[in-house]
Amino acid sequence: MNIQTAPAEAIEEPPSAAPRQSESNQETMFECARPEMTLVPTSVQWNNWRWQMRKRIRSVAELAAIYKWDAIPGDVYEAASRFPLAITPYYASLAQRLDRSDPIFAMSVPQGLELVDPVFLREDPLEEECDMPVPGLVHRYPDRALLITTSICAMYCRHCTRKRVTGQRESVISAAQLRQAIIYLQKHPEIRDVIVSGGDPLTFSTKALEKILSAIRSVPSVDIIRIGTRTPVTLPMRITDNLVAMLRRYHPLWINTHFNHPQELTPLAAEACARLADAGIPLGNQTVLLRGINDDPRVIETLCRGLIRNRVRPYYLFQCDLVRGVEHFRTPLARGIEIMEYLRGRLSGLAIPTFVVDAPHGGGKIPVLPQYVLSSSPNHTVLRNFEGTLISYPEPQANAEPLETVPIDPACGPTVADLACGRRDKIQPAGTARQGRRARQVVRAASA
Ligand SMILES: *Cc1c(COP(=O)(O)O)cnc(C)c1O
Ligand code: SF4
Repeated sequence: MNIQTAPAEAIEEPPSAAPRQSESNQETMFECARPEMTLVPTSVQWNNWRWQMRKRIRSVAELAAIYKWDAIPGDVYEAASRFPLAITPYYASLAQRLDRSDPIFAMSVPQGLELVDPVFLREDPLEEECDMPVPGLVHRYPDRALLITTSICAMYCRHCTRKRVTGQRESVISAAQLRQAIIYLQKHPEIRDVIVSGGDPLTFSTKALEKILSAIRSVPSVDIIRIGTRTPVTLPMRITDNLVAMLRRYHPLWINTHFNHPQELTPLAAEACARLADAGIPLGNQTVLLRGINDDPRVIETLCRGLIRNRVRPYYLFQCDLVRGVEHFRTPLARGIEIMEYLRGRLSGLAIPTFVVDAPHGGGKIPVLPQYVLSSSPNHTVLRNFEGTLISYPEPQANAEPLETVPIDPACGPTVADLACGRRDKIQPAGTARQGRRARQVVRAASA
């Protein structure tokens, strides 16, 4: 897509990319106490989101100065020129180590690995450009549409699925394009859920964002508005009282954010989420599964527990898309399934996201689960739970057909076939913690 910039008519001027001369980054932002790698904010402006946007780190040279990073590989420069670089001082300050073992570093700092380019990777693997009836509006599913409102983000994630859009040319939707999108929504009353996306729509000024929200709200057939934003993670000071007071005028409004690692769940991020939740905005989270960053069941567990403590519901866990420049972040699908296997039963259902693959060729989101249905016959379905207990679930009598009368083979022991024909109820692993609790409960009941 080509988001045209039409300054006279644009919703808002994009922020200027370069920091002002008088505000040299390395002098005013941090004291960097290496080797411990603690970046101490020094500016009184730290909590001002506009200052954070203005002072985004935009070049490898700036980054090197801030991190006091002296040996920069040449391919880092190349990666940064191919895919734009921007990091808010706030997000940069969360790094604890200067290498890929640090999740903050790995998600924000350009790496030569982005230049690895297998043939199956695409600029636009989800084929969003093919599902755009008007520029910027992706209409893929029957009842919802996604509006790309800006190519600007506070931080350009190295794993971004819209690398073809984000930051390539910092621009915002024009008033004319917004009008076209609204006309399309008016003509398609089946669209009941509009996702305001980008880039990051919370990089707009509150006033400019309100223009977009009120335009969408003027369409009576739209039930809910969703905003996709990573600012609670990369620019939490953006969630001001003023913003929240505006947002709550457009209810029902939902926000999905994008935490990938527990290290991002800082007190400031928690405060941002609390402000939104207090305004009655239901919060969801979309995590991208990233190799070496969060492809560990325990990291996802900690993240999901942290999210629900902050009233953020884990919504999706995404398989990393087949987009150019992200090959080094991809994990096998099996890893996602393994993580889901680990979470189910161990975590509150509220803390468990749906693992989805956003399919290549514009196939849309496809949930992928471990196998819980193991076998079936017309009268019984064999299920298994997280512990490995196999359960024979009887189907309604109306469908029942005569049970087979194959004799039990004592030499064989219980088999899944016994469950499928309903001859047994369950097959259970021995010695689980739950069985221990149950056994103690029976003893207590007997002695009471
Ligand atoms: C992800 C997405 C949506 C929203 O899908 P949900 O499953 O409802 O969250 C809508 N449109 C497009 C184009 C999308 O990529
Ligand atoms: S905030 Fe979202 S849209 Fe922006 S770079 Fe990160 S993943 Fe991409």
